[in-house]
Amino acid sequence: MSDDRGEDPQLIFERARGAFLGLAVGDALGATTEFMMPGEIRAQFKVHRKVVGGGWLHLKPGQVTDDTEMSLCIARALITAGGWDLKGIADNFLAWMRGKPIDIGSTCRRGIRDYMRKGQLETPYNEWDAGNGAAMRMAPVALYTLGDPALLDRYAVEQAHLTHNHPLSDAACLAIGRMVQGAILGCDRFELHAMTRELVGKHPNFNFNKYKGHADSYVVDTLKTVFHYLFTTADFEECLIGVVNQGGDADTTGAIAGMIAGAFYGPNAIPKSWWKKLNPTVRQEVEDSSELLVRLSPWAGRGGHCSSGTD
Ligand code: MN
Ligand code: MN
Repeated sequence: MSDDRGEDPQLIFERARGAFLGLAVGDALGATTEFMMPGEIRAQFKVHRKVVGGGWLHLKPGQVTDDTEMSLCIARALITAGGWDLKGIADNFLAWMRGKPIDIGSTCRRGIRDYMRKGQLETPYNEWDAGNGAAMRMAPVALYTLGDPALLDRYAVEQAHLTHNHPLSDAACLAIGRMVQGAILGCDRFELHAMTRELVGKHPNFNFNKYKGHADSYVVDTLKTVFHYLFTTADFEECLIGVVNQGGDADTTGAIAGMIAGAFYGPNAIPKSWWKKLNPTVRQEVEDSSELLVRLSPWAGRGGHCSSGTD
């Protein structure tokens, strides 16, 4: 581990803020090109590189969507309870759905409805649950369980199964959580890449060596898009521009790339012109929650030490 990617507690808080802010920025940036084809994006923008809103949801510049909103539902539940609270998360999802959000995935809607009708906190296995709707909201779980990989594994799957129960979604949630935590704790890009190889070793569909450009909401395509751009670019901006110009589920690939790249490069690498555009209430809550979640984490409980490096 090099000096500049060490474990100075201040840096850990900064990178955690980068993860949550990166998620919101990626969501707001990518929502403009959601469901577009790369050729359509080129025709309209040449390169889409500004937070301008619009898109099929007709968003205001800097407005976020379900990816950020559901992540904030999780963050709020954990901060309010001062600990893990799956029912609190489900209640927040339900209140959010009742508030008629601008966008909500069909699998998420089904899971939240089942909670409303039956109090069900774990949706049964479903072969169609391999969408990216659980993976997109992993940032708060990664921050809250920082420093305890076993806890991350457990809570990643618990939160995922509120709405999505599929081995590929579970595997994606775990990999994203580990990568966000690894990046926050100072691992380098080779260590991050090793985490993707571990995922590909278990589920070869995630192999992104010969990336074909599919960026839809199937969690395998989503992660291949994120990984391809994460490892073929050298900074936050370039990574996110690559991802959102691929179109497809661009707000969600943007959100996931944003949380990993935001943790890895830190919040100062996020272009000011992007985060300044974010809805100020959302931005404030995202930044405050990142700190509060890390304060609740096992890492903070040990006084800000991580005995076993980045694992
Ligand atoms: Mn969205
Ligand atoms: Mn999306």
